[in-house]
Amino acid sequence: MGLALEQARAASAAGEVPVGAVVVRAGELVATGRNASLARCDPSAHAEVEALRAAGQRLGNYRLEGCTLYVTLEPCPMCAGALLHARVARVVYGARDPRTGAAGSVIDLFADTRLNHHTRVEGGVLAGPCAALLEEFFRARRRARRPQYPLRPDALRTPEARFAGLPGPAWPARYLSDLPPLEGLRLHYVDTGAPTPQAPTWLLVHGPHSWSHGLRHLAAALAAAGQRVVVPDLPGFGRSDKPKREQAHTPAWHRQVLDALVERLDLRCVVLVAQQAAWAHALAALAPGRIYAVLSVDAGTTPCDAPYPDAGHRAGPRALARWPQAAEADGAAGVPAIGARSLGVDPSACLDTPEAAGRLARAAVPYFFPRPPDDTERAPGA
Ligand SMILES: [Zn+2]
Repeated sequence: MGLALEQARAASAAGEVPVGAVVVRAGELVATGRNASLARCDPSAHAEVEALRAAGQRLGNYRLEGCTLYVTLEPCPMCAGALLHARVARVVYGARDPRTGAAGSVIDLFADTRLNHHTRVEGGVLAGPCAALLEEFFRARRRARRPQYPLRPDALRTPEARFAGLPGPAWPARYLSDLPPLEGLRLHYVDTGAPTPQAPTWLLVHGPHSWSHGLRHLAAALAAAGQRVVVPDLPGFGRSDKPKREQAHTPAWHRQVLDALVERLDLRCVVLVAQQAAWAHALAALAPGRIYAVLSVDAGTTPCDAPYPDAGHRAGPRALARWPQAAEADGAAGVPAIGARSLGVDPSACLDTPEAAGRLARAAVPYFFPRPPDDTERAPGA
């Protein structure tokens, strides 16, 4: 039965329902077989039939008298029929099959003396491992078939094809839908990862006329400078799901989402870069103790429009464009906030090209993360 289990595992590895069989005669292995129905497009390619065919070829006889067939699952009626035709002396099976078992579970073809005078049956041998293999296979298949991020009925999702062929670095798209404030909406973000355990973290938050892609030059420049960069698409933007109702978008809710993201990724000592001063001010209250400073940049001279299939997908940008006043009123920045201009960088164009973003990164990294005091060269702002 151990050898039959090996065959079953091989079937599973090939994507077939894991059932394996072996034919043994006088203590000698005659043939093996495993379920191969999918690969062969053959409904009869069950493990038992495969093993019987191979045994018949090997022994040069379609009668397999004196042989024992070991199979990990109770034979179905088809296989029971084939086993009876072959006059196999003994069938030993592992797990019972309550749905199609023909050795007693549904019917018992072996017990019907009108059909059978030859074959003895024994069940339940290594039943545990045989059944576990099947259960794990079907569990994995159910998992694979379940959509990973089902779309909420009150939201839209921009088809992936709309993002094909975008210029710029292709960081893998990461998704979350289990942050409590998302209530099942899919949130997209980029995380360049920490090149060193102590690498400072930058959280880049786009404005109402942009999305994560609009921050790609700055993200690339910061990552090249050894920083960890996290760039989410706010709900309603880019690759994140888009609630259809404008009223769904409130500053408080977006702040909760970002807050939960910062917590989930366990970002600490974060410099938050926001693409709009008022928005930056509002977000500074985010994730108490985790945001260390805020840097605001302008939206860029060229708005970075996400591919929106229609006006229905634009509820988020419409809502955010109306926010600045409200956001300023309820922002409670307890952390230092500066603008790009304070770093000697033109804030209006600093996101538009790799060169401009590089200048901003070269000014901002040493400003916020000065080198340790034992360094001879002190950074500005240290
Ligand atoms: Zn069968």
